[in-house]
Amino acid sequence: MRAFTCPHCSALVFFENSVCLTCSTEIAFSRAERGFVERAGRRACANLVLASCNWLAEDPTPDDTAPLCGCCALTRTRPSDDDAEGLAAFALTEAAKRRLIYQLDDLRLPVVGRGPGVGGDEHGGLAFDLLSSENSDVITGHANGVVTLDLAEGDAGHRERLRIQLDEPYRTLLGHLRHETGHWYWEVLVERTGRSEDFRRVFGDERADYGQALQRHYDSDPPANWDRTFVSTYATAHPWEDWAETFAHYLHIRDTSQTAAAFGVVVNGPQNVQVRRDEELVSEPRETPSDFAEIVDTWLPLTYALNAVNRSMGNADLYPFVLTPAVLDKLRSVHELVTARSPYTPAAPVPVA
Ligand SMILES: [Zn+2]
Ligand SMILES: [Zn+2]
Ligand SMILES: [Zn+2]
Repeated sequence: MRAFTCPHCSALVFFENSVCLTCSTEIAFSRAERGFVERAGRRACANLVLASCNWLAEDPTPDDTAPLCGCCALTRTRPSDDDAEGLAAFALTEAAKRRLIYQLDDLRLPVVGRGPGVGGDEHGGLAFDLLSSENSDVITGHANGVVTLDLAEGDAGHRERLRIQLDEPYRTLLGHLRHETGHWYWEVLVERTGRSEDFRRVFGDERADYGQALQRHYDSDPPANWDRTFVSTYATAHPWEDWAETFAHYLHIRDTSQTAAAFGVVVNGPQNVQVRRDEELVSEPRETPSDFAEIVDTWLPLTYALNAVNRSMGNADLYPFVLTPAVLDKLRSVHELVTARSPYTPAAPVPVA
C-alpha cells in the first residue's frame, strides 16, 4: 500500500480515513484518481455508514438511489439490515476487501465483476457473497468467480480457534480474500489464456479429483517434508490450493514491501553482529521493483527484521513462513503471470442442457 496525503492540507492520511485528522476535511478515496479527494461535491459510496466505506461511488452506477463504489458493487450478497452482528463482520470484511481491490488495481490485474457497472462478465466475472455460517450453511470458498466468505471469521475469537485447530500460523480476513480471489485469477490468467500445461509443470496436474484431494487432506497428516516444496500444509491438498496459497503470498509480499517503501523503511543491520555474506540483512524496498529477484532480495531481510520487531511486542511473527527455493519458483511463476498483462477474456457461457 502506498502512503496517502490529505487533498486539502497534504498531511498523512491512512487508507481507512474518511476525515483528515489534521484539518478535519471530509475526504474520500477515488479509485479512478488512485488517491484521496475532498468529499464535498462528490458522491460518496452508499456504504459509508454501513461498512465505513470511504470510497467514491462509481460513475455511472447501476442503482442511482444507493450508488456504490466499485469495490462494494462486487458484493452480491450481504447480511440483512436487521442482523447487527453480521453487519459488523461485513464491515470488517469490506475494509479488508478494499485493500485487496486497491492492490489488484495497483498490480493492473483485471477486476471484472458480473453485473452492469462492474465489468459485466455475466458468467465468469468476480462477485462476493458475504454471509455468516451462524445463520445458514456457508463455507468459505470459490466457484466460477463467486467468492463466498463466512462472516463468522470476522469474530476474532472464532477465527483464532479455527487457526489453532487447523494448525495454521496465520489466518486473517485479508488472507482469505487474497486466497479465494486467487482461485478466480487461476481461471483468468491460466485457464482462459491456455497456459494449463505451463501451470502443471510448476504446480502439478489440477485435473486430480478435487473432492477426494480435500478429503484426504483433512483425514491425514501432511506429507513428510511438505515444507520443502509448499508454502503451507493447505497448499499440499491440491494444485488449485497450492496456486491460491502461493498467489495470496505473492500479494502479501508485494503489499507489505510496498508499504515499507512508502514509509521509507530501510533495513541495514543488525548492528555488531557477524552475518554470512550471503545472508546480509540489507533491504531497501521500492514501490515498484524491477524484477522478481529484487522482490525476493528485498523481502527476506525485511521479514527477518519485522519478525524480530513483532516479537519485541510479544506478538506473533509478521510473516511466519519459510520460502524455500521450490516455493520461490512457484512465486516466480505467479509473478510472471501477474506481470504478463494478458488481456481479460470473458468466460464462455455455460451451455444449457
Ligand atoms: Zn487535511
Ligand atoms: Zn463502497
Ligand atoms: Zn482455496
